[in-house]
Amino acid sequence: MTHAKIVPMLAAFAMLAGFSSIAAGKTCTVELQGTDQMKYDKDSIAIAADCTEVEIKLKHAGALPKTSMGHNWVLAESADFNALTTAGLTAGPDQSYVPKGDKRVLANTKLIGGGESTSVKFPTSKLKKGGDYLFFCSFPGHWAQMKGKLTFG
Ligand code: ZN
Repeated sequence: MTHAKIVPMLAAFAMLAGFSSIAAGKTCTVELQGTDQMKYDKDSIAIAADCTEVEIKLKHAGALPKTSMGHNWVLAESADFNALTTAGLTAGPDQSYVPKGDKRVLANTKLIGGGESTSVKFPTSKLKKGGDYLFFCSFPGHWAQMKGKLTFG
């Protein structure tokens, strides 16, 4: 075999190897809306086992400002939910009602008002397959009905 043939083969192999490393990472996007009726349009989110990263796209479909009807998206283990709603209240609006640097918060978006959108990405390495997770809006009182189950696997 001549060099002229080997070089294109190596190039093709390198391309294939490149593609397979891209395929090994899969970002799964979830679109979610919050409304002026203090509701999400989803009460559960299922993340497939082959997702390596999750992107949550939150849109506030209402018109009310974030000071009166702010929405965010916070993910935590169900066992930490109650404590985090209290910690969020203490953190206040400047921190989007999310305690800063709190390891119990697995992922969160900022707080948005009507007409705004935001997003957050996090690796599924933060999740355990079959784990018990809740997502919720940490705006004071909203968590009572703006919450749902998140499952992975
Ligand atoms: Zn809210």
